[in-house]
Amino acid sequence: MEKINLNHIKDLIAEIINKSFHTLKDVEIKVIEKKKGRYSAMVRKNWNKYFLFINKHYLKIYDEDELKRVLAHELSHIEDWVKKGILFYIVNNLKCSFSKNYLEYYEKETDKKAIRKGYGEELAKQRGKRETMKDKNFHKNKRFYLTKKEIEQEIKNVSQA
Ligand SMILES: [Zn+2]
Repeated sequence: MEKINLNHIKDLIAEIINKSFHTLKDVEIKVIEKKKGRYSAMVRKNWNKYFLFINKHYLKIYDEDELKRVLAHELSHIEDWVKKGILFYIVNNLKCSFSKNYLEYYEKETDKKAIRKGYGEELAKQRGKRETMKDKNFHKNKRFYLTKKEIEQEIKNVSQA
């Protein structure tokens, strides 16, 4: 499989924003490749700028669909912060760093948001791959995200709502 480069990631982000995150159309998001780290991707805010860090290691592992899931989850965070503002961002970050239970709640809510945005299938596929790989970071992080089973259940809930 061909390795996905940063320009491809930027195209995917533009595509996802166009399709599902209209609130982010005029938001500046800088994409930065990280050499290592515990997460596939993460986002940070600095005043009105947003930074999306993508872990080089996982670019080799995920296919395009799975990367879309990763990006849809991160864009769900950004949309939440854009809507709720800087104070929410600061308080929320503090709560996430002090309470593992809160972090678990917030990350799972973000997964659910990505599912409601229509990225459930990609999410299930990506979680399924990680659950099979069982890499070191997967074990460290798994508590904070929905399992493949929970994602499939949530897709059903959303379609029945
Ligand atoms: Zn997250």
